[in-house]
Amino acid sequence: MNRIQMQNAIAELDGDEMTRVLWAVVKEKLILPFVDLKVEYYDLGLLNREATNDEVTVQSAEAIQRLGVGVKCATITSNAARKTEYNLKNLFPSPNATIRAILDGTVFRKPISVSCIQPTVSSWKKPIIIGRHAYGDVYKAAELLIPAAGKVELVYTPANGSEPQRITVADMKGPGIVQGMHNLDESIYSFARACFIYAIKEKVPVWFATKDTISKTYDGRFKAIFEAVYENEYKDQCAAAGISYFYTLIDDAVSRVVNGEGGFLWACKNYDGDVQSDMIASASGSLAMMTSVLVSPSGVFEYEAAHGTVQQHYYRWQKGEKTSTNPIALIFAWTGALAKRAELDKLPELAAFAQKLEAATLATVEAGEMTGDLARIAQPAPAKILNSWDFIDAIANRLG
Ligand code: NAP
Ligand code: MG
Repeated sequence: MNRIQMQNAIAELDGDEMTRVLWAVVKEKLILPFVDLKVEYYDLGLLNREATNDEVTVQSAEAIQRLGVGVKCATITSNAARKTEYNLKNLFPSPNATIRAILDGTVFRKPISVSCIQPTVSSWKKPIIIGRHAYGDVYKAAELLIPAAGKVELVYTPANGSEPQRITVADMKGPGIVQGMHNLDESIYSFARACFIYAIKEKVPVWFATKDTISKTYDGRFKAIFEAVYENEYKDQCAAAGISYFYTLIDDAVSRVVNGEGGFLWACKNYDGDVQSDMIASASGSLAMMTSVLVSPSGVFEYEAAHGTVQQHYYRWQKGEKTSTNPIALIFAWTGALAKRAELDKLPELAAFAQKLEAATLATVEAGEMTGDLARIAQPAPAKILNSWDFIDAIANRLG
């Protein structure tokens, strides 16, 4: 059989535990028989990060930057427990945080829908994608416990030595609390650009919401930057892609989301994205049915599953159990990366393959063949639960 040829490579970032085990199976059964895969391989498994002093993570991010497309397996974020478990000398930051910082990216999360799993919100017909701004606000705030009555001020001292500006936060009549938070224009511009780049690629409208009626300066700045980026940089491309930009207040957005049919990108400020992405994920079905894409303002894409390394399943697999871990988000990370590569290199055969693999995966579930996490919530419930290997074989049979 003639395998599909590629031109340029994808940066492949291998990972840890159960997802590392399934990563290899997905490649062997679902991709390599059909595609003459070109990758630059980086092993981000915990032990190799330790052996390379975490250099491998930086190199992998640079490879994504250079090649334009990356695909990443889930990785362990080391902590005290992992230090003991793996006998580590160092605790390195989360690889995702390192990669995000290098690519200056925004993360978009999109649920994968199948007809036998109904979202909790009955009006939803299409996925709702969340784009979360991942810098500043309450996540980088300064907070103070105020012990007794007194005046609280905000003071800005310009670096160039000119006159400081101050403003009263509150004349506090008794004990209480205070918080000071910030954001940077540059970061908000990057966020807005990543949102429009993603939305144009996915051909979905962009919704953005803040509380600018109350927070006229802070949220007002977010609103103004988004509008400027749309008007000055992406309006024509949005029109060409047939998509719109819609701004509203955050409370109005929440009620429209719950009453609407979905099918848009919801660009969220940091806290809103934190809260609403969990709402969308749990209302959509399973964590294993959520993909995640990191998009940089320069238009570089990194695809991964939203879930972690599924640690508990891995310990059971080590004891010889064929676990029923759902590989769908891992498969979609690969199809996302292959489709992006196909688009950049103008390879219609590769694009068609990515689409076929996604369709075969969904059709397998819809035919009643699925892993345990989905079997629990599917209507009608399937006759039997497949383990990951049998599920991947079932997809391969359909694909073949
Ligand atoms: P997790 O791997 O997301 O798994 C949490 C639970 O969710 C699992 O125990 C399982 O529930 C269910 N689940 C998640 N993915 C599943 C799948 N594909 N199929 C079936 N069930 C699935 O989170 P964790 O166990 O808390 O974290 C493990 C490691 O992952 C940690 O070291 C963390 O640092 C890392 N992590 C990495 C990333 C990333 O690289 N992007 C993201 C998050 C976490 P049941 O046990 O009930 O079956
Ligand atoms: Mg959250």
